[in-house]
Amino acid sequence: MDFSPSTPSTAVQKPFDSVLVANRGEIALRVQRACRELGLRTVMVCSEADRDADYLTMADTAVCIGPAPPGQSYLNKPAILLAMQLTGAGAVHPGYGFLSENAAFAEAVEEAGAVFIGPGASAIRTMGDKIAAKKAMMAAGVPCVPGPDSALPEDMQEIADIAGGIGYPVIVKAAGGGGGRGMRVVRDIKDLQDAVLVTREEARRAFGTPELYLEKFLEHPRHIEIQVLCDNHGGAVWVGLRDCSMQRRHQKVVEEGPAIGIPPDVAAFVGNRCVEACRQIGYRGVGTFEFLYERGEFYFIEMNTRLQVEHPVTEMTSGIDLVRQQLLVALGQPLEIGQSDIGCDGHSIECRINAEDPYTFVPSPGVITRLRLPGGPGVRVDTHVSAGYRVSAHYDSLIAKLIVHAPTREQAILRMRRALSEMQIDGVSTNLPLHRRIFEDPAFVAGGTDIHHLEHWLAERS
Ligand code: ADP
Repeated sequence: MDFSPSTPSTAVQKPFDSVLVANRGEIALRVQRACRELGLRTVMVCSEADRDADYLTMADTAVCIGPAPPGQSYLNKPAILLAMQLTGAGAVHPGYGFLSENAAFAEAVEEAGAVFIGPGASAIRTMGDKIAAKKAMMAAGVPCVPGPDSALPEDMQEIADIAGGIGYPVIVKAAGGGGGRGMRVVRDIKDLQDAVLVTREEARRAFGTPELYLEKFLEHPRHIEIQVLCDNHGGAVWVGLRDCSMQRRHQKVVEEGPAIGIPPDVAAFVGNRCVEACRQIGYRGVGTFEFLYERGEFYFIEMNTRLQVEHPVTEMTSGIDLVRQQLLVALGQPLEIGQSDIGCDGHSIECRINAEDPYTFVPSPGVITRLRLPGGPGVRVDTHVSAGYRVSAHYDSLIAKLIVHAPTREQAILRMRRALSEMQIDGVSTNLPLHRRIFEDPAFVAGGTDIHHLEHWLAERS
């Protein structure tokens, strides 16, 4: 098993004055903005489908790295590394998705003499293997879902004993799983064998490793996550909690922070355990610990070793620019903030605005013919699109993130309703109508809904 060093990496961070942004869309623009504010030169890469993207015109250099399909462009490691070398970029920011959690890419960037803006390859590898991650978390005292921190044996009787020991329902999960795939809920011993065989085969094909593990299936949890930020000198802080329970098919739709109804001492206890885990694995940069939260208890499910889509929620309530911090850490600077400097001001909510049918969720590529963005106090829109922009069928349908910030959750909800009513996008279908209805849903407005609420609510309305 690949375990990371127990002390922070001592690798000397090379200073750099230019950053290649190995991503596209709103996050490419978000990273570009942070670079420019720090006086760093930006190299943006793009696929042929993104050649007309407006953010390319604001970059110092733009390089086309291949055709539209991600495998030939944004996932094309040799093309990105070549662009890095040709432009002399001293660092690579991977954004989220694409190559952001690819340990081999992180290694290749560093071997080519540049800085990968993220944790070391060994930390990415450990967290990419869910069994190794669980083992590392248990060792650091982070609360995990009941179940062993080891791979399932081959023998069915032994597997049945493990499941019986945990107690049904259980969930069979692939060690290499991701994106909500590679897991199966088992409610009765008679279904256990089939679930194990099918998930093992799926894991072998989709993730390249047949390793599985078993844990307790929690029936009504909330999805609560903790943002961390670490430097390369042993400095590590947790920056707040987010509630991302409003999901459909494991895809987050609305995110908010702080997570309401969680006692501050419980949050601080788990936050501090996360920080301890970061120290133990020598973690560097930003990261997110994802938990299920049920009946007052936290249960670790996975760590994301990158910037999250929903990072603005934490930026609004903490006042910390997480992307700027990522860049400073990559430049080798020690964190300027300690745990006692971090507060939580008011409440923030983010809506993911997708180009898709609001009820069938089928993607809706095409040209945006008209765009009206909301504004005013406490409203932030992170987007790369403008009127005339063509939404490509090749990529994720996220076209904007609408974020509000207000002194209280109640005021944030009122502000989001107002912002959603101002926002108008014509030419493609979007999920704006769905968001408008979510913000009228009494259960959501009351707060604390579980991860199944949105799907049940949608099913009742179809
Ligand atoms: P992925 O890497 O595919 O996102 P996760 O481990 O983060 O996988 O789990 C994705 C989702 O699956 C969770 O947000 C939750 O909805 C559900 N899930 C995972 N583990 C459990 C569990 N032990 N009990 C209940 N639901 C779970």
